Amino acid sequence: MSHFVIVGAGECGARAAFALREKGFDGAITLIGTEPIAPYERPPLSKETLAHSHAPKYVAPPSRYAEAGIDLLIGVTALDIDAVGKSVTLSDGRLIGFDKLLLATGADARPFPGTLNSAGRVKSLRTHADALALCDAMMPGKHIAVIGGGFIGLELAATARKLGANVTVVEGLTRVLKRGVPEEIADVIVERHRGEGVVIRCGEAISSLEEDNEAARIRLADGGVIAADIILVGIGALPNIALAEASGLAIDNGIAVNDRLQTSAPDIYAAGDCCSFPLALYDGRRVRLESWRNAQEQGALAAANMMGANEPILAVPWFWSDQYDLTLQITGLAEGATIILRRELGDSAFLLFHLDDAGRLLAASGVGRGNVIARDIRLAEMLIAVRAHPDPAALTASHVKLKSLLAA
Ligand code: FAD
Repeated sequence: MSHFVIVGAGECGARAAFALREKGFDGAITLIGTEPIAPYERPPLSKETLAHSHAPKYVAPPSRYAEAGIDLLIGVTALDIDAVGKSVTLSDGRLIGFDKLLLATGADARPFPGTLNSAGRVKSLRTHADALALCDAMMPGKHIAVIGGGFIGLELAATARKLGANVTVVEGLTRVLKRGVPEEIADVIVERHRGEGVVIRCGEAISSLEEDNEAARIRLADGGVIAADIILVGIGALPNIALAEASGLAIDNGIAVNDRLQTSAPDIYAAGDCCSFPLALYDGRRVRLESWRNAQEQGALAAANMMGANEPILAVPWFWSDQYDLTLQITGLAEGATIILRRELGDSAFLLFHLDDAGRLLAASGVGRGNVIARDIRLAEMLIAVRAHPDPAALTASHVKLKSLLAA
């Protein structure tokens, strides 16, 4: 009987395990995860988990794994891979052989230089345990200093304000959300945060972090000090590549895979936040995405390809973030875009279309309350997927339905 092993019991690993069964794989499946709980969704950690329920939102009810014949090993780390002998050594001493292996090891929060993640009053946010450790500071009278004006820092800031805490966001660059979000959209988000009472300080260089029994302190290069009950470090994530690297797999800003999610070793695949892959839609540009839907889709694609489907990655990148009642969404890759067109959707919502010199739609982004931009972003994604060159005048004319451009 074939044995497929998946290292990393997160979004991607769990989706892959269930996809194997849904596609009819009848061999053994072992899913190995370091964390002590069944796979759960990470997006709620900066949103609902802290605001409402402190319970994890499971990818699937924990009982479903055994029902589907998936051997879920939690609280166990894969320490070593023998890519030639095809086995994995586990932290509990076991050696597991595999016919095919999927690495879905995800990413870890990038620690502030010279500090440890989630030690004392300096915290990071990647796991459910990290989220629980933040809860005590998410209340009136507490002050949270967030380092980094990226998605996780700003979502956490919004949730903390909702729960009554005071929040200061310290960003080293000249504006927040500089990585991948157009300035017009970042401005809307910043205005909303400031309206809610969040202090946002951009262009600040940090010289050190300190803490004692009373407070945590950010010492700024200009001599200023920001004191807080806790500091949340939100300066990005680092792909978990150590295991792959030690076993000799090619690394390139993540575990390098081809457009079938195969690593440089036969029968070893990688997917989700841990891997970088070529995107045919963008001239084979190698990217690594940290996005929930990408982890889901690549989990399913890896499962299909482990079973011999040999299907390429065709998905268009897509990401969303919720802050207060605003949702922002981005689809495609805007790099290389020279033209930006704006379409008003009413109620202050708008979309931006990012086109190259030849008029090809490369990306679309938007912001608005609730679900207002979702449908149009979905249609833009479909236009991107077919490499459309839509009429610019139609893109900006709110009365022209995007669906009609797709038909054209
Ligand atoms: P992960 O979810 O990181 O899972 C990898 C798992 O592998 C981990 O549990 C890890 O412990 C385990 N592991 C690693 N090494 C080993 C080993 N050697 N042995 C055993 N187990 C191992 N995306 C969006 O699109 N929208 C959002 O709004 C959004 N919000 C987010 C909010 C937060 C707070 C965070 C942290 C992420 C958010 N994301 C969001 C990103 C999204 O959650 C990730 O892209 C997705 O979780 C990636 O899934 P993954 O399975 O590839 O990796």
